[in-house]
Amino acid sequence: MQNTTDDKTTSEVIPEQMGYNTRFQFQCHKGVKCFTRCCRGIDIMLTPYDILTMRKHLNITSEEFLAIYTDIHLLEKADLPVVTLKLLDDDQKSCPFVRDKEGCLVYECRPSACRYYPLGMGSLSYANELSKDTAKDNDDAFFFTVKESHCFGFEEKKEWSVADWREDQGVNIRDEANAGWTDLIVRKKSVPMSIKLSEQSKQMFFLACYNIDKFRTFVFESSFLEKFDVDPVTLEEIRHDDVKLLRFGFGWLKSVFFKEGEIKIKQQK
Ligand code: SF4
Ligand code: SF4
Repeated sequence: MQNTTDDKTTSEVIPEQMGYNTRFQFQCHKGVKCFTRCCRGIDIMLTPYDILTMRKHLNITSEEFLAIYTDIHLLEKADLPVVTLKLLDDDQKSCPFVRDKEGCLVYECRPSACRYYPLGMGSLSYANELSKDTAKDNDDAFFFTVKESHCFGFEEKKEWSVADWREDQGVNIRDEANAGWTDLIVRKKSVPMSIKLSEQSKQMFFLACYNIDKFRTFVFESSFLEKFDVDPVTLEEIRHDDVKLLRFGFGWLKSVFFKEGEIKIKQQK
């Protein structure tokens, strides 16, 4: 995670391109002298799946979660809204969920960014600005380590392969659930900056990606189903299943933004 407030901390991206089988040495546990150091003064971007699971864990709605725990930014290159964890206004700009002794209060549903560290991920086809169609099942992904000067986890003896680390941290399931969101951002970044989304389109993106409870209400209680063709099986699934609703929302945005998704506008009779 990148430190933004303490200028004594430096981040070093190790330039080695790692694959799923590349091994690295790292361990984070309550015994390290830097325990919880990385949960302060940081930017943590939240994914749609993070919000979905955190709001459920905290037993609040997505609307409440967004209002209490997040800041909203515009991702400049994509011209799309993104969400970060709102830090406390204390000396260290702490994450609201960190406690000195206990560590992370929301460990079971901690965000993807917290799980990934010390790894970062890139994509060869995205890097080369090729179409997503050539990047099947993330098999072109590569990884790298981000070493922050305050982190002593690299001095621990435990060794991991990248694949084992991802499995241990539960990022596979999250990346899979968020794939449509990542794709929308990457695609939008590749569109010339002169082609702007309307404010309404940005609001649609925010609603479907981050405010999942309100999006469900929008689908079922507005004129949405009069405009878009949604088969009955999908409709029944998204009524109760948050992850399916997320994927449905990404597909809907893809249809509206890029005219490519599976969700079609109903034919006028
Ligand atoms: S969510 Fe948990 S792991 Fe992530 S920064 Fe906050 S306290 Fe640390
Ligand atoms: S070892 Fe690194 S990741 Fe773990 S608490 Fe310390 S700074 Fe954070």
